[in-house]
Amino acid sequence: PSRLLLQVRVAQVTPDHLLLLAEDLTQARRLEAVRRDFVVNVSHELKTPVGALSLLAETVQDAADDPEAVRRFSARMRSEAARLSALVHEIIELSRLQVAGALEDAEEVVVDDVVQEAVDRARTAADAKSVRIVSGGDPGVVVIGDRNLLVTAVRNLLDNAVAYSPAGTRVNVGVRRRGDLVEVAVVDEGVGIDAADQERVFERFYRVDPARSRDTGGTGLGLSIVKHVAADHGGDVSVWSQPGRGSTFTLRLPVATPAAAPAAPDAPTT
Ligand code: ADP
Repeated sequence: PSRLLLQVRVAQVTPDHLLLLAEDLTQARRLEAVRRDFVVNVSHELKTPVGALSLLAETVQDAADDPEAVRRFSARMRSEAARLSALVHEIIELSRLQVAGALEDAEEVVVDDVVQEAVDRARTAADAKSVRIVSGGDPGVVVIGDRNLLVTAVRNLLDNAVAYSPAGTRVNVGVRRRGDLVEVAVVDEGVGIDAADQERVFERFYRVDPARSRDTGGTGLGLSIVKHVAADHGGDVSVWSQPGRGSTFTLRLPVATPAAAPAAPDAPTT
């Protein structure tokens, strides 16, 4: 249980009055702790690829007269550098989201356009793994938001669905309007996530299987970015999964034009 932290100041003293002001610092303290953890985690996560890079550089130097070794180690340097670059990119993205909080470039955004763009961008990785992405659902649903952030969110879900699925499986992404909300569900037939981990996957840097995530190029930040994007749009993201069978991640956003009548999607119209 978290304790309440109050800062009390004497605001005014007169012969017959004492005015005290109390300020609740609980939230501020919590944010401070979150920020501190983030910095510690970031330093830790950056150390791995940076350490690998400097070791590899040394190795290349020592192997200068062995072209085959130089080629092999240079290739590994390139892949470590790519990881590092992805990590830095996501860290910047996440800290921007954490600082900004509210949306800066909000406009009307059509959800199936966002999905289409995210699918296009995820396609290369999916093709390379022979995972088929299928999309569909309600067309023309509009939300108010930042298009690029929404594409990033759906893309992160798709990239994960592909990364944690075996070759030959299918990933389905569907858009459904439900009353005043629109749901984007990304369904995969992959490894799944057990119940204990389902609660934690949205945490920064949390990975169910760090070694596997590293193989897939994962940073452990993708889902926390999705969570922040959802929250900044007044929505949320949740997961449902059966280990060994697959996972469904659902992004829920408020629609731009809520139904005038009480939300009842299939109520009779007159
Ligand atoms: P990463 O960059 O490691 O994928 P994420 O924040 O995107 O980081 O996801 C956190 C962890 O949640 C992953 O390391 C993985 O273990 C798990 N995960 C995410 N999406 C899926 C999925 N579709 N199927 C199975 N596991 C998943």
